[in-house]
Amino acid sequence: MGRRHYFGMILGPLIRFVGEAGPRNLRLPLLSTVSEAVRDSAWTLPAIRSDRLQEVLTHLSTIVPPSENGTKDQALWKYAEDDYKSSFSTVRTWNFIRNPHETVHWRSTVWFKQSTPRMAIFMWQMMHVRLPTKDRLMRWGVASVMTCGLCDAEDESHNHLFFECRYSAAVWSYYACLCWPNPPINNPANDVIHNRKQIAKILLQVTAYTLWKERHNRIFRSQRKSMEYTRWKVDRIMQTKLLSLTRKSNDDGVSMLSDWYFLTMNIRN
Ligand SMILES: [Zn+2]
Repeated sequence: MGRRHYFGMILGPLIRFVGEAGPRNLRLPLLSTVSEAVRDSAWTLPAIRSDRLQEVLTHLSTIVPPSENGTKDQALWKYAEDDYKSSFSTVRTWNFIRNPHETVHWRSTVWFKQSTPRMAIFMWQMMHVRLPTKDRLMRWGVASVMTCGLCDAEDESHNHLFFECRYSAAVWSYYACLCWPNPPINNPANDVIHNRKQIAKILLQVTAYTLWKERHNRIFRSQRKSMEYTRWKVDRIMQTKLLSLTRKSNDDGVSMLSDWYFLTMNIRN
């Protein structure tokens, strides 16, 4: 009759709510259907002293008993208050049980169709200022040196690493200047670049992630690469990434790769 899971879901799984003695006290077999608790369009459950079972009965009293000639029992998924469906939807279920927060303005910088999952997760941590930079490690008592892992000149913090560090700035501004010349150049050839926004978002993730990896390798593997190498690495990852998009038969990928070559043609001559 489609009601067994209806009240079961509101109070949680019914067997867990009423306990193993529940079916016996309700005088219903463990695997009984809803229709077995209904006779002549009324619930046939016994009077019970247990608080939990009383709660079940109180709740049932708010539900109209199903018709004995109705359809068979079936499990229903709760999508929203008073909205039950027989099919399961991961998205609908997740949205129903999660605690939604206010949408942040930078969400599309982190989560977008062409992003790489591990880089997107890294960016999400970065935007929340959750990366284990040395200032945080010092506060936790697991680092004894504050010096920036990239420039070896100043104290390392989130702000320093991504906005002030001369090593990071030299890598980021190198590509930023190619994509957005300053002052803007009124070049008609710029009109052929249709994917500047998408390329910028991928470039931001690739650059930040590559810088973080370089910092990691310096601190934990004693491997130091030059600024020029890290620039080259960013270009390699960009090419590989955009090429992988073309392999998915994605026209955007083909034109993004050619846009990237166009924007960076000066570094290849
Ligand atoms: Zn630095």
